[in-house]
Amino acid sequence: MKPRIHAGDRVIDATAGNGHDTLFLADCVGETGRVLAFDVQESALISSRERVTAAGVVARVEFIHDSHSRMGNHAAAGSVAAVMFNLGYLPGEDHDLTTQTDETLAALQASKTLLQPGGVLSVVCYPGHPAGLIEAEAVEKWMHTLTAEGWRMARYGAVGTLRPAPFLLIGRKMSGSNS
Ligand code: SAH
Repeated sequence: MKPRIHAGDRVIDATAGNGHDTLFLADCVGETGRVLAFDVQESALISSRERVTAAGVVARVEFIHDSHSRMGNHAAAGSVAAVMFNLGYLPGEDHDLTTQTDETLAALQASKTLLQPGGVLSVVCYPGHPAGLIEAEAVEKWMHTLTAEGWRMARYGAVGTLRPAPFLLIGRKMSGSNS
């Protein structure tokens, strides 16, 4: 995603968690950029804030205690250079607080509208647990439909593992795409 995000861009971390991706994004957008970081867990936002504060980039981040399915209330259509999802649950935290397929699909739909032409959408899926498998299949199916709308898509993941391995879906909204 790095070459696609420029200084001054507005980007979204849809699943802030412990803030690893939030920090990565804050580095990418530079001092004049903005990261909107969503999580439904207050403790996740606190932990993310600590991480970006320690790195000295907290001024670039807006923490939003809300579901990513409502990201459309926080940014304008076509105003965002990248949206990043890391699905599943926080390691070491309550496993019931995992992302939910319906919410995830609603958030992906919102991302599609918020992204600017040339913008990038990334989703890491975890099919290794039963709910994660259902969610991963639904997300992959949804991402497939975007190719018909002119998006470029790729899928990366390990093969030959005992359990289904996590995989990354990454897509780019091309300038001529009809969505
Ligand atoms: N990117 C994180 C890991 C994310 S784990 C890191 O680098 O540490 C998934 C996170 O998604 C959890 O923190 C969970 O609270 C959050 N989450 C679950 N449902 C959500 C929703 N509907 N909206 C926003 N965040 C959600």
